[in-house]
Amino acid sequence: MSEHIAISELQRRLAAAEQGAQALGLGALLVSPGPDLRYLTGYEALPLERLTCLVLRTDGDPFMVVPELEVAAANASPVGELGLELVPWGETTDPFVMTAQRLSAPEAIAVDNHMWAEKTLRFHAAMPGVTQRLGNEVLSPLRMRKSAEEIEALAFAGAAIDSVHANMAQWLKVGRTEREVAADITAAIIDAGHAQMDFVIVGSGPNGASPHHEVSDRVIQAGEPVVIDIGGTTPAGYCSDETRMYSMGTPPVEFFEYYEVLKTAQWQAVQAVRPGIPCEDIDKVARDIIAEAGFGDLFIHRTGHGIGLETHEEPYIVAGNTTPMEVGFAFSIEPGIYRSGKDGARIEDIAVCGADGPILMNHRSRDLQIL
Ligand code: ZN
Ligand code: ZN
Repeated sequence: MSEHIAISELQRRLAAAEQGAQALGLGALLVSPGPDLRYLTGYEALPLERLTCLVLRTDGDPFMVVPELEVAAANASPVGELGLELVPWGETTDPFVMTAQRLSAPEAIAVDNHMWAEKTLRFHAAMPGVTQRLGNEVLSPLRMRKSAEEIEALAFAGAAIDSVHANMAQWLKVGRTEREVAADITAAIIDAGHAQMDFVIVGSGPNGASPHHEVSDRVIQAGEPVVIDIGGTTPAGYCSDETRMYSMGTPPVEFFEYYEVLKTAQWQAVQAVRPGIPCEDIDKVARDIIAEAGFGDLFIHRTGHGIGLETHEEPYIVAGNTTPMEVGFAFSIEPGIYRSGKDGARIEDIAVCGADGPILMNHRSRDLQIL
């Protein structure tokens, strides 16, 4: 697995983004440090107060505005190999005005969705009367459809996080605190080949009933179910995210009952993935099974989220998202059942929509792991 996306793929992405901007009648697409910049150029630039910004013009070649002191870092990234024109600016230059002067009075531009408000507003001041739109109008359709190389990168991330779950019995033990267990898992996420840990959720007993509980100093007790939801980012920039359920010995009888329902719901939702099915229908498959068993009120979140260079990105697997699935969409399928004050359960896999159905990035058993 290469640590960088091929230059030819970055060139293809840049060309596709330029075409997308053109089709929307945009004069330029402005992209500051973050996942969009990494998607288009491979440059993992630091998000600083000084402006770094890729400018994709529809009436000329792209260029990148960079603080003078960041030129070496930009050139050391794939930006150098891409041959993008760098436009350095010194400490006394206004880079927003400088950028505006290089554009030929566009009617509308787009800024990346994560651009800091202070930068967005300064671009607005430097280009009064120019309509600002969201970069996702151009970039989301591109980023949602994963290339073969991206699917390979997600599979690498999926295998890495699978290997952490495979060793959970070493760390998850009665008498330890959630925080102690999480520290070991964090180290294992890095050892497994991730460049960074993004999150570790260890939800023991009643803490499992809060979907985004992270960790606490609670001591894990015998007989308790434990939610373990973990993820990281690989050197190539792609994310993992996988939830499995564990139990410290035999859990309460009612837990077994709803866990079986959850397992069926999750697996049927996975099996429903195919090109053309609306994203919301995947959510409905899981939700209907859980509701029919009488636990509908306890499934309190959407079924999933897209994943790629960000852990949460489009498409969202949620009621109201009528977008038809396409080959290359990558997303989580993670229904949950949460009994407030008692316990909770969630099962999560990352799936890619293939031509003939789902391609799973995670392969660990979805059975309750009794430790
Ligand atoms: Zn997760
Ligand atoms: Zn997730």
